[in-house]
Amino acid sequence: MAKDKSKNKLIGAARRLLTGTVLCGFLAGPVSSYALPENNHHIDRKSAVMANPDTKLANPKAHSKKKLAVIIDDLGNKMEGTDEILSMPVKLTVAVMPFLQTTQEDAKRAHEKGYDVLLHLPMEPKRGRPEWLGPGAILTKMSDQEVRKAVEAAIDNVPYAVGINNHMGSKVTADERIMSIVLDVCKERGLFFVDSKTNYRSIVGKLCKQKGLPEVYNHIFLDDVASTAHISKQVGKVSEWLKSHDSCVTIGHVGSRGKKTASVLRNSIHTLRQEADFVGVSDLAREQRKLDFIFP
Ligand SMILES: [Zn+2]
Repeated sequence: MAKDKSKNKLIGAARRLLTGTVLCGFLAGPVSSYALPENNHHIDRKSAVMANPDTKLANPKAHSKKKLAVIIDDLGNKMEGTDEILSMPVKLTVAVMPFLQTTQEDAKRAHEKGYDVLLHLPMEPKRGRPEWLGPGAILTKMSDQEVRKAVEAAIDNVPYAVGINNHMGSKVTADERIMSIVLDVCKERGLFFVDSKTNYRSIVGKLCKQKGLPEVYNHIFLDDVASTAHISKQVGKVSEWLKSHDSCVTIGHVGSRGKKTASVLRNSIHTLRQEADFVGVSDLAREQRKLDFIFP
């Protein structure tokens, strides 16, 4: 009986999460609407050129070998668009939420496909309902020990995770105490953290620098508005960004808008390949580690 009750509770939370993900990451507005600091100007072009020979064949103009990391958030909950995302003909990164019905399955499928897998760690937002967070969330009221335990348990629940990014989190990513613990665990586990930039005042970049972790963050949200026209416009922004930067990180979602995002993305692959290679976000993190080692 008690088991059924808790099962129902979990299903209820998962359902609410399904609707709640509409707000995932967007509580502070789209990242693309303001200028971001540049930290990618030092990507090593020579080593980048050697990275992906097949794309060179597909795109003879791609001599510059810029890098595009597309992260798709909110997997792990049987979300709409998951199959479409997991059957793209290019390398993507998927961010999988812990402790949900298809957490293990989605992470495994993505890994087998050759994608990068991130733990999509639910973190308390400034606004929004707590039930939108899903299980295993990091809250600002937690003690240091509770935060550490929660992060470790979530990492253990998402197989093949090479890094972490935040689900929601506009409050937590501005909290130095909490983020310091999250990043310490990242470092201990050999993971990196991708800041989804749901808060302009995020202190993640500063802390990553202090702790010697790569600074990787979202530049452009693909589907902050759920229309095909908007998603296409955002893809245009990615192309524009790549004209003046050596790499771009962009975030889309499965869920209510998942099929639209997947469809626009698939139709844009040819165009985007004119600008850059599709890489996993770990490539950008690794590249930065290498360069930091050379130019500390
Ligand atoms: Zn999310």
